[in-house]
Amino acid sequence: METVKTLILGGGPAGFTAAIYAARANLSPVVYEGTLPGGQLTTTTIVENFPGFPGGVDANTLMDSMRKQAASFGADIRQGTATAVDLGKRPFTVTIDGATQIAAETLIIATGAQAKYLGLPSEQKYIGAGVSACATCDGFFYRKRTVAVVGGGDTACEEALYLAGLAKKVYMIVRRDVFRASAVMQKKVFDTPNIEILWNCNTQEVLGDGMGVTGARLLRKDGTVFDIAIDGFFLGIGHAPASALFAPWLQLDANGYIVTEPGSARTNVPGVFAAGDVQDSRYQQAVTAAASGCMAARDAEKFLLEL
Ligand code: NDP
Repeated sequence: METVKTLILGGGPAGFTAAIYAARANLSPVVYEGTLPGGQLTTTTIVENFPGFPGGVDANTLMDSMRKQAASFGADIRQGTATAVDLGKRPFTVTIDGATQIAAETLIIATGAQAKYLGLPSEQKYIGAGVSACATCDGFFYRKRTVAVVGGGDTACEEALYLAGLAKKVYMIVRRDVFRASAVMQKKVFDTPNIEILWNCNTQEVLGDGMGVTGARLLRKDGTVFDIAIDGFFLGIGHAPASALFAPWLQLDANGYIVTEPGSARTNVPGVFAAGDVQDSRYQQAVTAAASGCMAARDAEKFLLEL
C-alpha cells in the first residue's frame, strides 16, 4: 500500500491552500479532489470578495489557479473521493472510490459542506442563473432588484439582511409561522423595511423564462397557491458538512461540523486536521477556508517534526 506523509481530502480553497503549504514544507502531499473538483465555489460565477482581484475573478479560474499553484510546488493532485477511512491507528488508512487504499501519516480533511437545496427540478435548472445558495457570493448581481430567500433560521436571516442592503425588496419564504433564528437576528429582520415575510409558505416551483429566474410559485398552508415576481431565489435552509465518513472517530458538533481546537486545525485524533467549511459553520468564505488550510498544513508539519 502506498504511504504518504500528508493526505489531503478535498479540492476547494482549503484543500489547495493546505497543499501549497504542505508541498513547500516538503511533505509531498497527495490531494484527492472529491466529487466537486474546485469545491463549492465553482457553483458560483464571479468571486468579487477574494482579496487580490480588483474587478473580481471567475470562480473556476480562481480554483484552477490554486490547483496549478499547488501542483507547481509538487503536490500530487488526483481525481477520487474517499469512501472509507480508518483513523483508529497511524498511519491512517483511506479508501478511494471503494478500491484503492492509501496510508497517511497525517490527514487533512477539507471535504467542505454543501448548501442544502429544496430538490425541485425547476430550482436545479436555474442554479447559477438566478438560483443561489450564497448571498455574499451572488447578492451583488441583484442590486435594486427583487429576490426571495427560503428558510427561517440564522442563515436565511443573515442572507435576507445582506440582500436587503443591495436589493430593492427581499421576500422571506418561511414554511412555519415562526422563525428558527435567534431572537437578535429575528429583530433585525423585523426592523428592516424592505424585507417581507411570507409565513406558512412552501415553494412549489421556481419560475423562469429559460434564461433566468422570473418568479416563484408558493403554496400557503391554507391551500392558497400564488406567484411572486422575483429575479433571484436564494436558499438559506442550512448546510450539510461532508463529515459523515469521519463520525466514528472525530468529535462533531450538533450540526455535524468537525470540532477543531480553537486557534488550530487539530481534531481530537492526533495527526488528523480539519480545514474549511467541514469545520466552520460560521464564516464559510473562500478566504477563511484558504486560511484554515494554511493552518492545517502548518499543524501537520509541526506534528511530523515533533514525532
Ligand atoms: P437551521 O437548521 O437552524 O435552520 C434551517 C431553516 O430552514 C429553518 O427555518 C427550517 O425550517 C428551514 N428549512 C429547512 N428545510 C427546509 C425546506 N425543505 N423547505 C423550507 N424550509 C426549510 O440552519 P441554519 O443554516 O440557519 O443554521 C445552522 C446553525 O448555524 C444554527 O445553529 C445557527 O444558529 C448557526 N448560524 C449562526 C449564524 C450567526 O450566528 N450569525 C449565521 C448562520 C448560522 P423549520 O424551522 O421549520 O425547520
